[in-house]
Amino acid sequence: MQNFQQRLIQIIEEKRSWTQRGQVAKYIPELSKANPNILGIAMIDLTGQIFTAGDIDYEFTIQSISKVITLALTLMDSGEEVVFGKIGKEPTGDPFNSIIKLETLRPGRPLNPMINAGAIAVTSLIQGRDVSERFARITNLIQKLTGKEEVRIDHSVYLSEKQTGHRNRALAYFMLNEQVINGDVEDVLDLYFRQCSIMLTVADLARIGTVLANNGRSNETGEVIIPGRIARIIKTFMVTCGMYNSSGEFAIDVGIPAKSGVGGGILAAVPGKWGIGVIGPALDEKGNSIAGSQVLQVLSRELNLSMFTSG
Ligand code: GLN
Repeated sequence: MQNFQQRLIQIIEEKRSWTQRGQVAKYIPELSKANPNILGIAMIDLTGQIFTAGDIDYEFTIQSISKVITLALTLMDSGEEVVFGKIGKEPTGDPFNSIIKLETLRPGRPLNPMINAGAIAVTSLIQGRDVSERFARITNLIQKLTGKEEVRIDHSVYLSEKQTGHRNRALAYFMLNEQVINGDVEDVLDLYFRQCSIMLTVADLARIGTVLANNGRSNETGEVIIPGRIARIIKTFMVTCGMYNSSGEFAIDVGIPAKSGVGGGILAAVPGKWGIGVIGPALDEKGNSIAGSQVLQVLSRELNLSMFTSG
């Protein structure tokens, strides 16, 4: 496996030039300060062996990757009937922050939990007395999944999105009107902006990936952190909707359940095999890490990781 470690370093260096072809997210002002040249990866197999390459110490905000965590939490809290009574299970083909289908489709509920509307509705279902208790439940789950002692947020990114996230605000108020969301919308949005600002590294994402790859069970302690059925639902959404409106193309080119965020992170889980975390803040026009997607494409080809080939 020494060879594989070397190959991984080579892949990162080969693909680093792709970072020039993308742009860091600008619509959240604070994210525009990210370094576009960053590229890093961590891969952990189910025996716990870790391989890393590139900018692995860089901490970034997980943004939409948090949608995976909050979906797991609400499914564990409230069950499928409640969650999927409010949020659909279908891909949209639209950008992640699109509003249009909320009004044109009846009933006016979000199509899936991986787009902003669906994720905000999911966040509204998280149980707890107040925003801080609900947020602590999100960070507790992340601690269990990653083994981290402390989970922090990037305060400037949080405030930046809270001040400028008018589109998310529009989605949330529309859903209040449709009774998809009940209660205090500003509290729901506050919690959503906090979850998006959680900072992790690629190794943390890879650890989360190993739990999903291992059907929700920690490969270190054997503890069931997420029930198997919920882990399966999440991986399925990652395939159908995890890379926004590039999910179809990504399924063909890479074929691995994955969830991206506009901070440039990608969480990937190869069932039964690998947890993978990638960071590359330069994004393609759909909002996915441009170099990160390239790295995953090479790895999928060389290690034969696509779920859609056998042998
Ligand atoms: N916080 C971001 C938003 O709501 C997350 C979106 C993303 O990562 N695609 O716009």
